[in-house]
Amino acid sequence: MTAQTPAQLPPTIRAVNPCWSPLVQRLTPYLPGEQPKLNNLVKLNTNENPYGPSPRVLEAIQAELSDALRLYPDPNADRLKQAIADYYGMTPAQIFVGNGSDEVLAHAFHGLFQHPAPLLFPDISYSFYPVYCGLYGIDFVTVPLADDFTLRVQDYAQSNGGIIFPNPNAPTGRLLPLTDIEWLLQRNRDSAVVIDEAYIDFGGETAITLVDRYPNLLVTQTLSKARSLAGLRVGFAVGHPELIEALERIKNSFNSYPLDRLAIAGAVAAFADRTHFENTRQAIIASREHLSATLREMGFEVLPSTANFIFARHPDRDAAELAAALRERSIIVRHFRQPRIDQFLRITVGDPTQNTALIAALDQILA
Ligand SMILES: *Cc1c(COP(=O)(O)O)cnc(C)c1O
Repeated sequence: MTAQTPAQLPPTIRAVNPCWSPLVQRLTPYLPGEQPKLNNLVKLNTNENPYGPSPRVLEAIQAELSDALRLYPDPNADRLKQAIADYYGMTPAQIFVGNGSDEVLAHAFHGLFQHPAPLLFPDISYSFYPVYCGLYGIDFVTVPLADDFTLRVQDYAQSNGGIIFPNPNAPTGRLLPLTDIEWLLQRNRDSAVVIDEAYIDFGGETAITLVDRYPNLLVTQTLSKARSLAGLRVGFAVGHPELIEALERIKNSFNSYPLDRLAIAGAVAAFADRTHFENTRQAIIASREHLSATLREMGFEVLPSTANFIFARHPDRDAAELAAALRERSIIVRHFRQPRIDQFLRITVGDPTQNTALIAALDQILA
């Protein structure tokens, strides 16, 4: 009999590798939604856009495919910063760009939230936040959402080293009005307030319009959702030049070239094609409303969503069982085994064909 190597032991009793730093031993990494290798699935589990990116994005990337790939990209991605600044009526000094908004958020945690007072975020929100806290040793306190999953800004009126939440929130889809965000900014002048607007283009109003008045506000966005470029990895932040400078200092101490040549070219083109953006996001909004209404008719409780997903529960069917039954029918949705939300399913709004398949499968399962 040969000796068992650590890799063959169950994970719980696996010996700690002596090469691992104490930090690595303590980490609990984020678990992304499944990216199945099968491609005949109706994939409604990671909030990807069912419509492809703008054809102009693909052309711009094609045009960038040349011998120039031997050269490093522009470390500051100036073209892209300028395109985003023009789009929102800001200046390039107010823009930071990164390899997906997850990276932008990581730099924000590292550069703005490492303080003696704890970071505040909702008990139900993006599950990457506590992971970044673990990575950067940031103390945090979760603030419970109300029973209907609305965020009460008054609950954030406490000592903090920063505040962050998605708006609309994930995975609930609920939107906080700008007036509430402004209330928070006025009462919280000495720490950074980061609004993660990954889904803002599906019906919300961006807080970027408040950036000129509130130097402690940082708004992050991504091209992964409304611009259908999850595979290109481009995210950005808009804020006061001094907040942007904090992110630049972190970025330039970590990786000078987070955006490659293809990503910069594609992202610039994505902002230029407003028609494609407008048509596809309106199609998703219309599908969301239709899907929400249909699920309600089928007995689901559906939270009002301003995102490209809906959060729903059935009063008499276990959510994990529903997810498993959908999976047997080749439809994957997201289920979180987490207190308060373990009876909900988070369902990405697909195209009409995908949504019809989902409804038909649920009809069968509930019959
Ligand atoms: C999808 C998502 C992001 C990250 O998007 P990237 O693909 O890394 O740009 C950030 N925040 C929330 C709440 C998200 O759902």
